[in-house]
Amino acid sequence: MTANPEIEAELLVRDIGQIEIRRRPRQRNMNLSVRADGSIRVSCNLRRSQREILSFVASCRNFIEKRRARLAELDRLHPRPQFLSGETLLWFGERVRLDVIWSWSERIRARRVELRGSLGGLSGEFSTGKSFAGEHGKVAFELTALLTSNVKQRQEAVVKIYKKEARRWFESRLHFFAGLMGVKPISLSVRGQKTLWGSCTGAGAISLNWKLLCCPAEIIDYVVVHELAHIRHRNHSAQFWEFVERFDPHYKAHRAALKSMEPIIGRMFL
Ligand SMILES: [Zn+2]
Repeated sequence: MTANPEIEAELLVRDIGQIEIRRRPRQRNMNLSVRADGSIRVSCNLRRSQREILSFVASCRNFIEKRRARLAELDRLHPRPQFLSGETLLWFGERVRLDVIWSWSERIRARRVELRGSLGGLSGEFSTGKSFAGEHGKVAFELTALLTSNVKQRQEAVVKIYKKEARRWFESRLHFFAGLMGVKPISLSVRGQKTLWGSCTGAGAISLNWKLLCCPAEIIDYVVVHELAHIRHRNHSAQFWEFVERFDPHYKAHRAALKSMEPIIGRMFL
């Protein structure tokens, strides 16, 4: 069991399965969410009885079924990668092929390779590590993995590439746009939250999600501009959006595209 004191218990409900209950002292209403893996969490304050929770869950039955059906549909359309040869991963808005070299002894590691010649052959070389925009031909991921490795371990090796490139890419785009926009961010942290693409504190500390590297460069730029614009405007007022538009005239399309990619990106990584 988990050591988290906030999780009171797990209930087993007929036809629905396991429910995780999270107690939040200050919460007034009960809240139910269906996670990406179909599991269910109820959050509520300390006073709610188990019976109240059960009847609340029962009243959400329709919602749960609909949400799970939608997840099953997504599973069909966008199967979760197992990090095996032949699968593709999103990388700067393109589907990039993954190749796995199985090993008995070698440590698990992934690298980005640039392909030469035909798409099929992997007679590539190490990535140059230089700027990505405009110069990438055919990129692929090559993963050396132990035969005994599991999905999570293989994913971790690939995620390292995303995180490393994300920091490099974000730093350079932040530098570029901060100059244009006349704002000064004080720091950058690279995170991997499930639903948050970026944030900006009052002091100008910017946080960006490495999963953005799944998106085309112009969408990443939109998020960079959005967060930098918060240094000047702390809200989403009309002035804020006017400021954003000056540096990303197509921000509305980019914002919509990001929204539509969310479920797909959310399924690429566990
Ligand atoms: Zn915002």
